[in-house]
Amino acid sequence: MTETNPTADTRHRRVPERGNHDFERACAIIDEARVCHVGFTLENQPYVVPMAVARQGSDLLVHGSVVSRLITSLADGLPCCATVTHLDGLVLARSSFHSSMNYRSVMVFGKAQPITDADEKSTALDALVEHLAPGRLADLRESSRKELNATTILKLPIETFSVKARTGPPSDASYDIDLPVWAGVIPLTLTEGKPIGAPDMADGIPLPDYL
Ligand SMILES: Cc1cc2nc3c(=O)[nH]c(=O)nc-3n(C[C@H](O)[C@H](O)[C@H](O)COP(=O)(O)OP(=O)(O)OC[C@H]3O[C@@H](n4cnc5c(N)ncnc54)[C@H](O)[C@@H]3O)c2cc1C
Repeated sequence: MTETNPTADTRHRRVPERGNHDFERACAIIDEARVCHVGFTLENQPYVVPMAVARQGSDLLVHGSVVSRLITSLADGLPCCATVTHLDGLVLARSSFHSSMNYRSVMVFGKAQPITDADEKSTALDALVEHLAPGRLADLRESSRKELNATTILKLPIETFSVKARTGPPSDASYDIDLPVWAGVIPLTLTEGKPIGAPDMADGIPLPDYL
């Protein structure tokens, strides 16, 4: 387990017992995600943009068009915060006030860097594809030079980060415990549905095992 020192940015103040700075736990949360939300401020306006995410070692990877405002701003070193969230359950207490959610989340702060080396970029894009749809890469044609040139891939070091999680039943006030109302947790999970083939797919293509 790697433990980094909390900085001023990542010191949990609100319900600090739910927080930690455990690198392995951060990685596990990121590895289970396909989406993160990247926040940054441009000309005094905050933006929070959902993006596909993957992890490569101690870097969080995101990608986008070389001409996108988000990508060019981040590539120029605009400070950002990437957040990954898993909603694990609705925590239904006997009062609105004590109702909550079970979750695991990670916030990674820093400056992203564009991957410029062609081989490194190609490997990072492969990692992203393979993370989003494990097994898929082997079936896909190679990206063309033009496609690679149209894409920027950014790496954000998972160095300044924080983890927060809530688990367990509601924490009702003692004076509410005897109320005649159901209390507990509704677990929530994200599941894959049945594959839907593209309408223009050639005949006779079987569903690959990895799907
Ligand atoms: C699915 C989900 C739903 C939530 N719903 C609510 C809600 O409705 N209302 C509400 O008040 N809070 C909610 N939270 C908790 C919320 O994310 C914050 O932790 C909380 O509001 C305290 O925010 P703060 O800025 O005052 O925290 P502080 O403790 O002041 O934050 C200090 C630092 O702690 C770290 N930190 C704080 N929160 C998180 C986090 N969630 N994940 C990782 N690092 C964190 C960051 O590094 C942050 O800079 C929810 C969290 C999740 C994941």
